[in-house]
Parts: sequence; structure tokens; C-alpha cells
Amino acid sequence: MRRRGIAIFPFIFLHEKAAKKDAVLLNHEKIHLRQQLELLILPFYLIYVVNYLYELIQTWNHDQAYRKILFEQEAYNNESDLEYLKKRKRFAYLYYL
Ligand SMILES: [Zn+2]
Repeated sequence: MRRRGIAIFPFIFLHEKAAKKDAVLLNHEKIHLRQQLELLILPFYLIYVVNYLYELIQTWNHDQAYRKILFEQEAYNNESDLEYLKKRKRFAYLYYL
């Protein structure tokens, strides 16, 4: 799994210019910005890394561990719904626990 973008509040960094037109990718990264805001930024990164390492120890597989991170599950499951952030409930990633 190659990440095509990264969200570091309040910015979204994309690996290629063309990705700017990729509404689904942008939506994915915006979902991460919302998650970060909700967790007051720094705790988001801490939980993200701990969650990743926990999954990595279970699977010893980067792709699987990455996809199992709660924040990524929420983002991947809803990135195609461009209206998602308008109706999203707070702490929605907890549903993936
Ligand atoms: Zn993501």
C-alpha cells in the first residue's frame, strides 16, 4: 500500500499534483484532518502509531497493519462518500474497534 497523500493538520500533502483533482483521495485526507482536530492533533499521531505497532505485532505485515488502524478504516470506508464529513458523528472511528 503506497500512501498518495498525508494529512498533517492543517495541511494535506500530496505526492503528485494530479492528486489535487482526486476527490476521493482529498476526502480521505480531510477525514484524517477531522480526526486530528477532534483529538487535539498530537494524541492523534500517538494513537495512530501505537495502533499501527499493535496491529503490526499481530500480523507482521505492513499493509494489513496499516489498513487496520482505526483512523484508516474510517477513512477508507467513507472516502468515496463525498458528503461523509457533513454527516459524520464525532469519534466515528470508535465504531471500528
Ligand atoms: Zn489514510
